[in-house]
Amino acid sequence: MTILPIIKHPDDVLRKICQPVETVTDEVRKLMDDMLDTMYNAPGIGLAACQIGDLRRIVVLDCVREAEEDEKRPMFFVNPEIIWESQDVGEYEEGCLSIPGVYENVIRPSECKITFLNYNGDAQELLCTGLLATCIQHEIDHLNGVLFIDHISRLKRSRALKKYKKAQSED
Ligand code: ZN
Repeated sequence: MTILPIIKHPDDVLRKICQPVETVTDEVRKLMDDMLDTMYNAPGIGLAACQIGDLRRIVVLDCVREAEEDEKRPMFFVNPEIIWESQDVGEYEEGCLSIPGVYENVIRPSECKITFLNYNGDAQELLCTGLLATCIQHEIDHLNGVLFIDHISRLKRSRALKKYKKAQSED
């Protein structure tokens, strides 16, 4: 079990476009295991590889949970890609391990369909709804150098970042 340091906004690494993984090797699986440990430790419900400084298109999630159920349900996504998104939108209050303490409502398509390689390297297709749809869109944004605060109004963003900067400088 390895807990890796999480890169925080405004580090440039979070603005890079991440590169596709060619093959899901043991090295990639080890990275995903470490990412999962790091995410659970934070604690968070999603983590993209760029958030621990690795610029490959890899995401781990654990955001689908029945009420009062403690069991872990990790999900692994290599090269996730949105191939369809609904016209319907939904609003969730989002946060990000790279911008601790900032929570804002974000509007996104309420459903999306994605393709990806799973932990074993098999090609998969998945229809995402509810919180999973929000989480995977948030994480795929990371792979393209986009943060959730990019989706909110300029006024809300500057207000949130002012508070964030103040909190960071007090740490
Ligand atoms: Zn995030």
